[in-house]
Amino acid sequence: MTTPTPSDPGVTGRPWPGAGRFAPSPTSDLHVGNLRTALLAWLFARHSGRRFLVRIEDLDTARVAHDPAVAERQLTDLHALGLDWDGEVVRQSQRLEAYAAAVARLSESPGSYPCFCSRREIAEAVSAPHAPPGAYPGTCRRLTAIEQSERAARRPAALRVRGGDVTVEVVDTLAGRFGGPVDDFVLRRNDGAYAYNLAVVVDDLAQGVDQVVRGDDLLSSAPRQAWLTEQLGGRTPTYAHVPLVVNRHGQRLAKRDGAVTLSRLATRGIGADAVRSMLGASLGLAEAGEPVTAAELLARFDPAALPRAPWVWDLDA
Ligand code: GLU
Repeated sequence: MTTPTPSDPGVTGRPWPGAGRFAPSPTSDLHVGNLRTALLAWLFARHSGRRFLVRIEDLDTARVAHDPAVAERQLTDLHALGLDWDGEVVRQSQRLEAYAAAVARLSESPGSYPCFCSRREIAEAVSAPHAPPGAYPGTCRRLTAIEQSERAARRPAALRVRGGDVTVEVVDTLAGRFGGPVDDFVLRRNDGAYAYNLAVVVDDLAQGVDQVVRGDDLLSSAPRQAWLTEQLGGRTPTYAHVPLVVNRHGQRLAKRDGAVTLSRLATRGIGADAVRSMLGASLGLAEAGEPVTAAELLARFDPAALPRAPWVWDLDA
């Protein structure tokens, strides 16, 4: 299937339907928390008549060696859960030219500059009186060309966008209004890799994504991404940051929590259909133990009725 473009009304003649997406990093198999987020992203997209896209966020090859089999298993698991998607799966590692073009554009306006700070220097720098925690203190913002070249001889530079220290508010379907700082954040790291915030925004724009559904650990990234979207001439998508799945100690679910992936659950006799049913029950869309298809979950889906608290995964409870 070819992917329509915003100027292409498609065969139905309807206006551009917009798109939602699920964008896993292929670092390890999806666990039930990731699968629940994927299901929610699919439900939100399909419920609103949008296309649904899958994007593999395999940009971080300098730090993490990606086993291509992991991404393939992630796709297989999404299918097993009954989720379908439109068009080809996009891989960020294939999109470096698009990121380079966006960096060039942003460097024209609002501007960018090389940053030679280490993490430690940033942590130790004295921030401006009202700067939010973690915001870049601006150390390299006003270096002269001579200072820049002196530092470049010692350490490769990251590239930061001139964020202007504004606060941007986004409206989240679940969290409501959320304001956050836009500091001079990193566009390209000092190992040459494009930063997550840049790649996500460039890809969402290029793919016509106008609905972002993902884990609420990423809510704090939304103001920067919304701002960057506007700098690149786009319109801010709608956001729904969904509660994470936690273990019985209230900690974010992780691989160490035992049988949390479809393959590990299968060895305990819990197949993909049973997992779909558990996820559906956790969302208030199915009775405990009720066999249910993805289409049935979609027919019952009501964004306003979604549980707002983290879901506790405890197989042995
Ligand atoms: N790749 C990110 C992750 O796996 C998700 C990025 C996004 O949805 O914006 O956590």
